[in-house]
Amino acid sequence: MPHAVSFQQVSRHFGAVRAVDAVDLEIAPGEFFAMLGPSGSGKTTCLRLIAGFEQPTSGHIEIFGETVEGVPPYRRNVNTVFQDYALFPHLNVADNVAYGQMIRGVGKAERARNAEAALEMVKLPGYGSRKPGQLSGGQRQRVALARALVNKPKVLLLDEPLGALDLKLREQMQEELKVLQKALGITFVFVTHDQSEALSMADRIAVFNEGRIMQTGTPEEIYRRPKTRFVADFVGSSNVLPPKVTQQLGGPAEWSSLRPEDVRLDAVSGHEARVTGASFLGSATRVTLDVAGEKLNVLLPSGLAVPEQGASVRFSWKPDDLHLMGTDA
Ligand code: ATP
Repeated sequence: MPHAVSFQQVSRHFGAVRAVDAVDLEIAPGEFFAMLGPSGSGKTTCLRLIAGFEQPTSGHIEIFGETVEGVPPYRRNVNTVFQDYALFPHLNVADNVAYGQMIRGVGKAERARNAEAALEMVKLPGYGSRKPGQLSGGQRQRVALARALVNKPKVLLLDEPLGALDLKLREQMQEELKVLQKALGITFVFVTHDQSEALSMADRIAVFNEGRIMQTGTPEEIYRRPKTRFVADFVGSSNVLPPKVTQQLGGPAEWSSLRPEDVRLDAVSGHEARVTGASFLGSATRVTLDVAGEKLNVLLPSGLAVPEQGASVRFSWKPDDLHLMGTDA
């Protein structure tokens, strides 16, 4: 079975800007794949290259084994859900959902049936006659999703689709999208700069920085075994320790990553440090330590005593939790 999406050494330059720089990428059929990275790292450009809204400056792209060079967006078996939903305000919900099918010449009765089925999929049955202006942000987002799903694409591209929703709704939609994706078996390629969203939803994540993929792996791999300082810091804000400090903590002279939730303060033995601050986060308190001039964040579960600023404390961790990343990470 060919890959759902494959990039071979794909670049897209805009003048001097290397928006996408020699990217190799393979997405499996039926996979929920997240592209994660800071603003400007090239995620959206990658998505647009898959959709056909952009052409590569160099390199080769295949979708389900077919070369897509020169194939226009509407001929690719791919649909996009945009962050701003891009709904037509003057058309009602059913006509918005059925719009693509109307352009393709699908008959009126069939269009209406397909639109209602798609609205049912996104839990908006019976909303067809409303205008987008009469819906909440979350409902508009569902309509945009229904409009993309009605065409039964083999690959669904989602560009920060939950970006405009409040936290609660966002978490609910994350759950629903995941369930929907597994039920439909469609390959999802999801762009986000929110690491917790990528970790909770994706089967695999590609972490982007400056037009390149820094690491690809399962959420667990990316979180537990980051290969570089950038990945360790961007995904879950780890403590990234320089070789000198790793050595002081008993490790080899390599860059290392130590997750704040893996550091314990209740140890009677362990390394000594000074408390420089504490902030209450709700489910935990983040305590900041000074360790040989380096800042070390510790996540203290709520309910445990929080040490005073300036206090001298001891800290420890399990050997496996100090993740080594080599000398040039
Ligand atoms: P965001 O999360 O902010 O959407 P992103 O990771 O999706 O960021 P891209 O939109 O892919 O990043 O942009 C990558 C780089 O390419 C940026 O520096 C951007 O300014 C540049 N870029 C993107 N599109 C164009 C364009 N049409 N013309 C010129 N530069 C562009």
